[in-house]
Amino acid sequence: MGRKEDNIKKAVELMKDQKLIRNLGTAAHIDHGKTTFSDNLIAGAGMMSADLAGEQRVLDYDEQEAARGITINAASAAMVVPYNNPKTGATEHYLVNLIDTPGHVDFGGDVTRAMRALDGVYILCCAVEGIMPQTETVIRQAMKERVRPMLFINKVDRAIVEQQLTPQMMIDKFSKIITQFNQKIMDILPAPLNKQWQVSLQDGTVALGSAYNNWAVSIPYLSRPEVVKKAKELAPDIMEKSNGKFNLGTVFELCAQEGGQEKLAKIIPIADVALEMAINHISNPVDAQKIRIPTIWKGDLNSELGKQMLNCDPNGEVALMITKIIMDKQAGEIAIGRLFSGTVKKGMTLYIAGQPAPQRVQTVALMVGADRIPIEECKAGNIVAVTGLRDAIAGSTVSTLKDMEPFEKMAHYSEPVITKAIEAKNMADLPKLVEVLRIIAKADPSLQIEINQETGEHLMSGMGELHLEITEYRIINEQKVDIKSSPPIVVYQESVKGPNATEFEGKSPNKHNKFYFIVEPLEEGVLEAIRKGDIDTEAKIKDPKEMAKLLSECGMDKEQAKGIVAFKNNNVLLDCTKGIQYLHETMELVKQAFEEAMMRGPLANEKVSGVKVKLMDAKLHEDTIHRGPGQVIPAVRDGIYGAMCQAGRILLEPMQKVFISVPPDYMGGAVNLINQRRGTILEMGQDGADSTVTSECPVAEMFGFASDVRGSTQGRAIWSIENAGFKQLLPDLQKKVVTEIRTRKGLNPEPYDEKYYSGM
Ligand code: GDP
Repeated sequence: MGRKEDNIKKAVELMKDQKLIRNLGTAAHIDHGKTTFSDNLIAGAGMMSADLAGEQRVLDYDEQEAARGITINAASAAMVVPYNNPKTGATEHYLVNLIDTPGHVDFGGDVTRAMRALDGVYILCCAVEGIMPQTETVIRQAMKERVRPMLFINKVDRAIVEQQLTPQMMIDKFSKIITQFNQKIMDILPAPLNKQWQVSLQDGTVALGSAYNNWAVSIPYLSRPEVVKKAKELAPDIMEKSNGKFNLGTVFELCAQEGGQEKLAKIIPIADVALEMAINHISNPVDAQKIRIPTIWKGDLNSELGKQMLNCDPNGEVALMITKIIMDKQAGEIAIGRLFSGTVKKGMTLYIAGQPAPQRVQTVALMVGADRIPIEECKAGNIVAVTGLRDAIAGSTVSTLKDMEPFEKMAHYSEPVITKAIEAKNMADLPKLVEVLRIIAKADPSLQIEINQETGEHLMSGMGELHLEITEYRIINEQKVDIKSSPPIVVYQESVKGPNATEFEGKSPNKHNKFYFIVEPLEEGVLEAIRKGDIDTEAKIKDPKEMAKLLSECGMDKEQAKGIVAFKNNNVLLDCTKGIQYLHETMELVKQAFEEAMMRGPLANEKVSGVKVKLMDAKLHEDTIHRGPGQVIPAVRDGIYGAMCQAGRILLEPMQKVFISVPPDYMGGAVNLINQRRGTILEMGQDGADSTVTSECPVAEMFGFASDVRGSTQGRAIWSIENAGFKQLLPDLQKKVVTEIRTRKGLNPEPYDEKYYSGM
């Protein structure tokens, strides 16, 4: 049997023994070495040639990301890894499910979903750059999902060879990184986990090394007898100098020597060191779920299912959370997810939360490297690939129970900021494009696909230029549909300054039904809770009293909160009326009209955000025939729109945090660039020899930023961006932008005013 077949056979055996499973991932700021590190682990398990791991990646930035889009698609690799237990001297085998999280800010949603499947994560941090904004984001994401972090300080070779830091300088620098890292954990996690999950060099939750040169050190690994033995064989000169001791100092010295890193790769191979960290510090799924389930699932922990998930019970009901959908030429749509309890079997019928009809599992498989290995069944604690669940999307909860409380909505840190219109190059491809878009939207919920009703074209909105570029790349190269796309367009949102001074009346076409509205900005606390996912606006409000309590805790007036009817986007509909006849029967239609109004605002047909809509009064015709949808919907919509006009309509634009680090001489150029782009400087600082500037710029001004920043700093800048929510557009620019959007959408350039909505 070859190594591969052997691996597959072992993997299928190991997946039954939960104690021997580790669900791990890697996450990092872009370019800190995540891909190189993952390649090393895969090569360490014999699933890729060791020569390829750490091979210099030659593609340039965008192409590289695009190329990686495909490796990201591989989703999860199950690997069988041998581990020499230093205590027993025996070789044990573990099943490691490795999930690569995407490394770009545009894929925030993907990172969160990947995290849900993991129990532990290697967070890589470049020794030269230190903790960067995206490093902080991934730490935050991991903590939110209760995924235990391990810190890997990468590119130590650069600190030694290029920066020529002395051992003491390095220790100081690394200590600073570790302290910052721990501070984040301290701030984000509740006690006692915030102390338990602190990382340190001493206990081996921190390792240092060079993914590119395939070596790493952790203090516990250094004390292994075979390390000293190999070091004596391979580097006798250094070992003699250090009196037979192999420690951090000898590692640094050897790294600086010509050919020394190749020796290090043999003495302290990165895959072994990294694996030891995970085996000793990351819990197996049974132990990990005890900590994770209470955070990621809000159902009753004392229920049967609650206990089964806490125990990762293979004999319990199936509780599966889909984290990824991939397309396979032969098998079609494959749903990949983490199985928290039960056993998934071929042919079994499962419910997808929110979907009425159950679906049959056609095949069950384990992803071993790039191969999908069919298996009869898969037990709790594993990452499993299933076909047949056509209604599942990334994020779905799947269960044998019809009404399983879904896993908590995953917190997304960004809303779409950029849209492109796309169409098939050949009309004949249109049906295929529609199908491909449907699947892509299922696989990537941070992508929004809409059909523009006016023009019939497809609108694709995402987290940034690159996010859309990669999606287009996938449509063309993987799904083989040739498409044309428009230049990217910024996504705006509409809101209000107000409240409006007097209740605005919306009348039905037959004049027999009247609705009176006040609109005003939603409380900041409520908005924050919606953004963080603490309030799930997509779920049905099951218990209005409970929801009212939550809203008032977030700062909404208690009486008002009791009137909660519905959410749409980041907006709230409140019923502030008392004892109005027939209103109860009409409320469904009011809700529907509210939802429609929040999808397209009165200013520019963009989505409404951050508005509290209060229904103050209503007059309804006694006869149901005269208050059907054709009457109620326009009346409510006009009432809301009119109230928004009175309250003062404002346009919100998406912002990005831009972080630049440059040698001081180029700082002026970088600051100019920010100023030219309507940017605000938030902070200036120093990082080693480099100057840093943190600023906030409108997304609308960020097109072409990559090449400008390169030009004005002669390529010396390290920079990154992060979406930073929506802010009010300067009033001076509002009219111009509104006209542009309306013209583009084929609307009358001038928005309607309150007179229009009052039917005058
Ligand atoms: P990712 O964006 O986090 O996936 O980063 P990559 O793994 O693609 O690495 C980014 C760049 O850094 C590539 O050019 C790598 O070859 C290089 N790189 C990665 N690890 C190391 C390292 O340990 N030392 C050095 N010198 N370069 C590295």
